[in-house]
Amino acid sequence: MRALLLTRDPDLSVTLTEVDEADLPDGEVLIDVSHSSLNYKDGLAVTGRGKIVRGDFPFVPGIDLAGTVAASVSDRWAEGDAVILTGWGTGEDRWGGFAERARASADHLVASPGSLSAEDAMWIGTAGFTAMLSVLALEAHGVGPDAGPIAVTGASGGVGSMATALLAAAGYEVHAVTGTASAHGYLRALGAAEIVDRHALADAAEPPLQRGVWAGAVDSVGGTTLAALLAQSRRHACVAACGLASGPALATTVFPFILRGVTLAGIDSNTAPVPLREQAWARLADAVAAGALSAVEKTVIPLADVPAWSARIVDGDTVGRVVVDTRT
Ligand code: NDP
Repeated sequence: MRALLLTRDPDLSVTLTEVDEADLPDGEVLIDVSHSSLNYKDGLAVTGRGKIVRGDFPFVPGIDLAGTVAASVSDRWAEGDAVILTGWGTGEDRWGGFAERARASADHLVASPGSLSAEDAMWIGTAGFTAMLSVLALEAHGVGPDAGPIAVTGASGGVGSMATALLAAAGYEVHAVTGTASAHGYLRALGAAEIVDRHALADAAEPPLQRGVWAGAVDSVGGTTLAALLAQSRRHACVAACGLASGPALATTVFPFILRGVTLAGIDSNTAPVPLREQAWARLADAVAAGALSAVEKTVIPLADVPAWSARIVDGDTVGRVVVDTRT
């Protein structure tokens, strides 16, 4: 099978090469991978600019994959089933999606909703899945489309642009928080009602309780941005915290929680339980069918182009989502 192989000798190098299928990790299900996607995390792994790979080298990266079951020793999956795999350490401690085949645990797979193609599943990928988990968290905490403005931070990024599109299509009033001036038109096209300057929000973390603005938020940035969102949350708002693009620290107080009933909902796509995954993917398939994501740019690249595009995604030189067609 063809695979993108990372080796360390001692410097990191990446080559598109033939790999013996017998070298795949253990797992009940063998998958013919047709598509993967390029996430920021993959960019860090392939360029070696971030410590993402925890498995032994040589290593096949790629945190997302979609394809069909080629063989299964689990009675939960049969040859020909369309499946999606994201997270569970794929492309981090287990060989991932930048290959023509992968092997996975039967418990980690999700059946691809019938209407969703493998290419579209990977257009969504971990970024869109995380955005949908965030939307589900807002809903679970009673924040509906009529609740008031919803802030989406890191709005031009993978998670942020998917969250903007999903929320806007569901009727929410989305305020897209961005530091990228050139993305304003794109964010409007995704459905953002307002554009907020990321620096102004990050500078407004104090005092810890301010005028309530946000009915909810999807935050992929963390740091003072998240602190500001909490300080400016309305009563019974829900803030879904899913990322740390500006940093992992969070300096806040208990006031938003005990005086306004604000909920800080943690989002972890990596270990999300399967029933929640199935719910999220069903909703994502509906969103695609309804055209809710049509403004999210999709670039399809062959396996051989992953190294060049990895550098671009780490340099912030990509828009929308990058799908990898592993058959080309
Ligand atoms: P991207 O790189 O695509 O997007 C991140 C966005 O954050 C950028 O486009 C930019 O948006 C903004 N940003 C970048 N640097 C800064 C900064 N220093 N301060 C403030 N904003 C900044 O990444 P993803 O969307 O793929 O991921 C976003 C975050 O979510 C990452 O931290 C990632 O690790 C995390 N993540 C978490 C998951 C989970 O399961 N919890 C799953 C997937 C991702 P703009 O220019 O519009 O401001």
